[in-house]
Amino acid sequence: MNIALPVLALATPGQRYTCHGCGNCCRDFTVQLRPKDVARIVEQGWMARLATNPIVSFRGQHYLRQRADGACIFLMGDGRCQVHAEYGFEAKPIACQMFPYMVAPSHATAQMGVSFACQSVVENKGKLVNEQVNDALRIALRGLPETLRPVTGLTLAHKRLAEPGEIEWFTKRLVAWIESDSPLRIRLDGIAWIAQALAVARLTRVRGARWNELLDVLFDALAAELPLHPIAPPSPRQIAQLQSAIFSRTEDPKPLAQGAPSRLMSIVNQLRRSRAWRTGRGTRVVPAMGSQSGGSASFAQVWRVTAASDTHESEAQAREAIDALMTRWLRASIEGGRSWGSGYYGWNAVDGLAALCITTASIGWVARYEAAREARASVTLDDVRRAVRRIDRTAGRAPWLGRTSERLRIAFLVRDDGLRRVLHGHF
Ligand code: SF4
Repeated sequence: MNIALPVLALATPGQRYTCHGCGNCCRDFTVQLRPKDVARIVEQGWMARLATNPIVSFRGQHYLRQRADGACIFLMGDGRCQVHAEYGFEAKPIACQMFPYMVAPSHATAQMGVSFACQSVVENKGKLVNEQVNDALRIALRGLPETLRPVTGLTLAHKRLAEPGEIEWFTKRLVAWIESDSPLRIRLDGIAWIAQALAVARLTRVRGARWNELLDVLFDALAAELPLHPIAPPSPRQIAQLQSAIFSRTEDPKPLAQGAPSRLMSIVNQLRRSRAWRTGRGTRVVPAMGSQSGGSASFAQVWRVTAASDTHESEAQAREAIDALMTRWLRASIEGGRSWGSGYYGWNAVDGLAALCITTASIGWVARYEAAREARASVTLDDVRRAVRRIDRTAGRAPWLGRTSERLRIAFLVRDDGLRRVLHGHF
């Protein structure tokens, strides 16, 4: 196969990753198999050795079987992969080989990204990601050729096709704001304010240089404008939308685990959980997320948790580290091609930015939830790390996040200051 697109290094400087073998990805993900993966697994003869078929079919797709706790059937007690241990790296399904690298093609290049579902990525441990572009390219060539083919039709807003340079200017202005000296909560508020302004603007005739000028005006106004627009607490309907969004970003039904309920019961349980999130308030207990263990917390307890304080030196250091993590995550989400276009369900850039605001609010809320589960009054760096890992699992790989329900949520939250209100108070 010819290489159609050059793969660009991740623009986020200093992002690191080396696998440290924690095995978390093998407990977190449902691994979908391609025909070549299925052939390899069958050839390896696991069926007889495991006394069960390691491949299961669900809605016409093939997946690796999971154990009752949701872990991959090939995950060994020491955290290693049995397929890798016995047959080598290239014998694993291509999705496992690729993780946590991601490659998102556009019309002229493919952008390398990384998933923050990986513990080493979140903790920024290992080799510079930019030194690993060829590794990602080799894996993509071997098993994900579609990520190296050009895609057309990248849109800026609604059905308005992006002109050359427009997305680049959007990215540049966003990143400059994200890297500015303002406190994290102000920078997040600024992103929400921009997302709201662009979502309700009529952009049909704002093209090329006029688009760039519009962005300059908006971003240059942020520092002066934001203090003039105090943020009200979110309304009950906005809270319901945020909690629904968190459900969508954390839902992990594990329909393929051994001992999982029937398909019908899975759907019924899922509807129940969805309702519990949407209507959750007061002393009702927050439904468990994924295969988590440990304490629980009520919705009221979560909303009472405050952002990390900076009263003591150690807290100030934690706050600084949270700021650095969220800045790195935001940049990697935008510059890694994971916020719109092929890396985010083919969405236009303006809707993608609004979705990024909701995802950021979800991380903040889940971090508060982690603190509430351990009866702490404010969040710590570990809470935020856990929240980023949990929420980023679904980024770009949960088809339901690319559908109408999420678009309707965005259409609702870009009005009445909704994005700013649901994003406020977490960091
Ligand atoms: S989560 Fe990251 S560090 Fe842990 S096993 Fe998976 S790839 Fe390796």
